[in-house]
Amino acid sequence: MQYSFKLHLSNENDTQKLATFLGQHIAQGVIYLIGDLGAGKTTLTRYWLQKLGHQGAVKSPTYTLVEPYKIREQNVFHFDLYRLNDPYELELMGIRDYLDIEHGLFLFEWPSKGGDEIPQPNYMIHIEKTEDDAKREVTLTFDSAEFLTALKQHFPS
Ligand code: ADP
Ligand code: MG
Repeated sequence: MQYSFKLHLSNENDTQKLATFLGQHIAQGVIYLIGDLGAGKTTLTRYWLQKLGHQGAVKSPTYTLVEPYKIREQNVFHFDLYRLNDPYELELMGIRDYLDIEHGLFLFEWPSKGGDEIPQPNYMIHIEKTEDDAKREVTLTFDSAEFLTALKQHFPS
């Protein structure tokens, strides 16, 4: 992917602002959320889905692998592959039926565990904790020049 953009998140409020931006600018596609346990992948997802209009809880689908949502006619699938032992389990749970859904938004925590069973991303979001664990550094990687322009406008350095 050709573009990347770095952001510093001083607190959860900044994470919410990023999620709001993502909710406004990414309508569909495959998103990889990459980072250690506790980095903030689920937290970002939670604010993102709330921005789209979801009102209930956003559970971490650690044991179920996927949590489907229908938010204002938009199909959203939140995957957490942390506990996946073998990518083939995704085949058995019917991941193809999910991926066949047109115009869906597919969010993947721990995409590295999915092997070839999951599609290539349109956007990658790396979240890193700072040493004192209080802040986060985020790197977004993507192919859309329009998205880069919007990011630069919204988060001037
Ligand atoms: P992951 O899904 O990556 O394992 P979670 O989102 O479940 O991580 O947990 C992130 C934790 O870090 C939460 O307890 C959250 O309150 C905390 N946190 C502190 N600062 C931030 C931040 N800037 N963004 C997101 N989470 C943060
Ligand atoms: Mg998580």
